[in-house]
Amino acid sequence: MREMTYLPGVRTLTYDASRCNGCRTCTLVCPQSVFTMEGRQARVHNRDRCMECGACARNCEQQALTVQPGVGCAAYVIQTWIKGKDAACCGDIGCC
Ligand code: SF4
Ligand code: SF4
Repeated sequence: MREMTYLPGVRTLTYDASRCNGCRTCTLVCPQSVFTMEGRQARVHNRDRCMECGACARNCEQQALTVQPGVGCAAYVIQTWIKGKDAACCGDIGCC
């Protein structure tokens, strides 16, 4: 299985640790294993794996997470497999 890294340095995912109540929901809903738990708080374990699906933010009842969901993310990952990282661009397919 190839590494499911989206865009290095993606910045739309934000996490406010002061709001986190340790419910673990983000670790359960994230398809990319971006979060881990550290005691009773979530931690952003690997930000570059985030594909901006929005599931964490939608399911965090504490509003500790925000992200701007994009639909080109999965297509971008697949394009990097086929075309290579420099040639891939989600703008090519007009999705976002
Ligand atoms: S879903 Fe929100 S409140 Fe729950 S562990 Fe994750 S960041 Fe914390
Ligand atoms: S937006 Fe999706 S992929 Fe990114 S951290 Fe949240 S659940 Fe995981």
